[in-house]
Amino acid sequence: MTTRLVIANWKMNGDLALIDATVEAYPQVSKVDVILVPPSLYVAALLAAANDRFQVGLQDIGRHDGGAHTGELAASMAAELGVAAVIVGHSERRADNSEDDAIVAAKAQRVLEAGLMPVICVGESIEERQAGQAEARVRAQVQAQAENLRSRLPVAIAYEPIWAIGTGVSASVVDAVAMHRAIRSALEQIAPDHADEMRILYGGSVNAENAAELFAHVEIEGVLVGGASLDTDQFAAIIRAAGAAQG
Ligand code: PEP
Repeated sequence: MTTRLVIANWKMNGDLALIDATVEAYPQVSKVDVILVPPSLYVAALLAAANDRFQVGLQDIGRHDGGAHTGELAASMAAELGVAAVIVGHSERRADNSEDDAIVAAKAQRVLEAGLMPVICVGESIEERQAGQAEARVRAQVQAQAENLRSRLPVAIAYEPIWAIGTGVSASVVDAVAMHRAIRSALEQIAPDHADEMRILYGGSVNAENAAELFAHVEIEGVLVGGASLDTDQFAAIIRAAGAAQG
């Protein structure tokens, strides 16, 4: 069975005290991969505290690899620091910064070139779901990453229905599993020889209560956790649920 991956996206939240508290509450679970993704300013502090128990990621990256781009960060810089993964295409960035699939693909490419793992977020809006277009929308977002997906380098896809992010309303497990299967079939069409090496994560109001139910399904190979990752006990419980599902 694929090793489950649990990613914490702190978004623009957290402080040094949260790093201490997260490390303090961090559970003894060996069979789960965990990546903590704080605001970039806290990456160095989190890396120093990691002690090989978890890895550290970035929430976004510049689409250039250096140069005159004030305020941007390059994937190669993240690699030099010891960052393991970079989230690209989060729906909040797509909405707040007008990032389209082409920009997301360029960022994922920079991440791969730097030897890091992109966590590529895809997901439909509530209007698209209500119109019966959820699967087509998500397949199109995956297809837009085809070149990156064919690279044979580690990639994770995070299915995050926009209407489930930060709302407390998670997708039903049935809907999440169905979409994970659709994504898996899209990956198999794009990269038949190594699609099985890519993990598909679910994100959208994952918490200590629903994590075990999600992990009960082999299709849910990990989770991307926003709000609940700021609650150190809840986040520890989610990691434990992933470990228990791993057996
Ligand atoms: C996210 O931001 O990726 C996310 C899934 O947030 P939340 O868990 O708060 O819904």
